[in-house]
Amino acid sequence: MKRLTEEIKKAQESMEPPPEPIFYYEACNGCGSCLFICESIKFDDVDEAREEMDRAIKYSLGNSEEKPLRILNDCVLCGICSDYCSRLAEPVVLFKKIKDQEI
Ligand code: SF4
Ligand code: SF4
Repeated sequence: MKRLTEEIKKAQESMEPPPEPIFYYEACNGCGSCLFICESIKFDDVDEAREEMDRAIKYSLGNSEEKPLRILNDCVLCGICSDYCSRLAEPVVLFKKIKDQEI
């Protein structure tokens, strides 16, 4: 039993920490679908959602000072949008980054 515990401990020590989640800017085509399906923010149409995505990307890169206010105010970081994105861009990571920028 003691040997097993030591082996588990050794295996745990040699494990790499999980990689930091990232938003894949190059994968995102700015379609806005992830935001359009969001039940917390509730955009009226996909154009509105697309514009907010555009604001979010530019703001996160420091290319614009215009804040994506609806994400900042109403996103609860549930992650459903990331499950929905067919390009696997991980939008929830972007939204978390933007919220963290405001702290
Ligand atoms: S994260 Fe995905 S669903 Fe959202 S705008 Fe980018 S490509 Fe579209
Ligand atoms: S993470 Fe935010 S934007 Fe994405 S579905 Fe959840 S509340 Fe909506």
